[in-house]
Amino acid sequence: MNSSNALPSLEQAMDTIPFYKPHGSEIELFERAWRNRLPLLIKGPTGCGKTRFVAHMAARLNLPLYTVACHDDLTAADLVGRHLIGNGQTVWCDGPLTRAVREGGICYLDEVVEARKDTTVVLHPLADDRRILPIDRTGELLEAPPSFMLVVSYNPGYQNFLKGMKPSTRQRFVSLGFDFPAPAQEEAILVGETSIDNMAAKRLVSIAQAFRALRGHDLEEVASTRLLVYAATLIKDGCEPSLACRAALVETLTDDPDTASALSEVIDATFGK
Ligand code: ADP
Repeated sequence: MNSSNALPSLEQAMDTIPFYKPHGSEIELFERAWRNRLPLLIKGPTGCGKTRFVAHMAARLNLPLYTVACHDDLTAADLVGRHLIGNGQTVWCDGPLTRAVREGGICYLDEVVEARKDTTVVLHPLADDRRILPIDRTGELLEAPPSFMLVVSYNPGYQNFLKGMKPSTRQRFVSLGFDFPAPAQEEAILVGETSIDNMAAKRLVSIAQAFRALRGHDLEEVASTRLLVYAATLIKDGCEPSLACRAALVETLTDDPDTASALSEVIDATFGK
């Protein structure tokens, strides 16, 4: 992969790239980081568009994408690879990080702070100017090609970050802060994702705004763009809007009956009973 001149025109790429509505200058920043071989850290609440953004950028840059949803059992071997035994033979099998390095693609580690601490041993030399991946088990030392990019994300709301990610890791990345889109953008996302009509999109976004104002009071988690897309999908399918909002928003966000009835009142006031 040639890192400088191999991009398809945007018109060609638009046919195949996942729909993504930009918030600000994140597309430019991602491209600059990629061109200059800098790793990227994206922080923001769940369901605000981080994964979609990375998928969009990978397609736009015509790069293979390996996405890993990190969890507390994820080890360095899960990322790098392991020997597998079959038919009496031992065969080395690359993990997603190794594949991304070999192919010069993007490796996206979603919720990276969830991963076991031993993963930093492989991430550090890839995330600084060495850009190498040592594979102890095979004795290989892979040098990342220019088009390889490491992208990680985390949700600061979970409050495990400060103890979870050391400054020595964090300071290897260029960082992008994400939040929920402005109302007009979020409406456009709902229309773009589900073809719902503009008025219904506007109403859904106004409900989300009202719910988000309750963050920290009655609600621990707020209505994400993802949940609004779910509500819009149900409505587009013919579901009665209040029922769709209860299923996609209220019941997902709270188990408390009083909070649920307060949220339902907002929905009824917006869509009518
Ligand atoms: P995150 O990775 O931040 O948890 P996602 O990227 O999975 O969130 O976003 C959840 C859903 O919200 C996506 O599948 C998409 O439908 C929608 N979405 C969020 N932001 C955008 C955006 N800017 N453009 C298009 N769709 C978006």
